[in-house]
Amino acid sequence: QTMQTSPSTQIVNVGGFDIGGPQFTVIAGPCSIESYDQFLETAKGVKASGAHILRGGIWKMRTSSKAFQGLGSSSFDFIKAVCKETNMTLISEVTDARQIEEIYDMVSCFQVGSRNMHNYSLLKELGMQKKPVMLKRGFAALIEEWVKAAEYITAGGNPNVILCERGIRTFETATRNTLDINAVAFAKRNTHLPVIVDPSHAVGIRALVPDLAYAAAAVGADGIIVEVHPRPAEALSDGMQALTLNDFKVMMNKLERILTAV
Ligand code: PEP
Ligand code: MN
Repeated sequence: QTMQTSPSTQIVNVGGFDIGGPQFTVIAGPCSIESYDQFLETAKGVKASGAHILRGGIWKMRTSSKAFQGLGSSSFDFIKAVCKETNMTLISEVTDARQIEEIYDMVSCFQVGSRNMHNYSLLKELGMQKKPVMLKRGFAALIEEWVKAAEYITAGGNPNVILCERGIRTFETATRNTLDINAVAFAKRNTHLPVIVDPSHAVGIRALVPDLAYAAAAVGADGIIVEVHPRPAEALSDGMQALTLNDFKVMMNKLERILTAV
């Protein structure tokens, strides 16, 4: 039996914020970090609206090899500058175990993407680190497989794992994926780990992202990770699902009202 019955006994501190405790944590930023100006503008904007932690991709797992793959190491210096200027910490995806060391000092949490949930050598490597890991659910993974993937990290000696439901592939094509809200409720009640929701990849359509963020808050998720871009039409990845800075502000206001109500 892999499931436990005690809800969220593991609290994971990311850059000074306790994920899995009484507070709802909001992680926000661009899908891809594209330039100093784009990242700084986004970081300042989301911080002003109440985001706690920054997100941003350095290496991207794109379906097409011809699509933008991320700036990689050429962005390290300006990323550090943006985090310093805004006094925020960054969560970013590692797509390869060698990247752990490269960005170790730049991030407060490592992200494992949906496509790498089954990459057990990467998970084992992250299990040996002292920093938290946010493990996204594979887009076709059972809840049980997701929980067992998390155990590759915890078994290695790193207890600080956050589960992230980011939508799964279903028969539906009207939206990018289907947010499995069942999985959020199930994982909250049957694992000891914090659970957050990524409404952006779950639905893939900007106008619907806030609605799913509210659902996440109502169902008892510990937070959200959401994509924001100052000019979504210019985004190098996932522009369709990026909130503008104003969309984000409006969403944060309503989210606060929902969190007070539940
Ligand atoms: C991302 O967070 O930009 C991303 C690639 O997400 P996922 O791994 O869930 O597809
Ligand atoms: Mn994305």
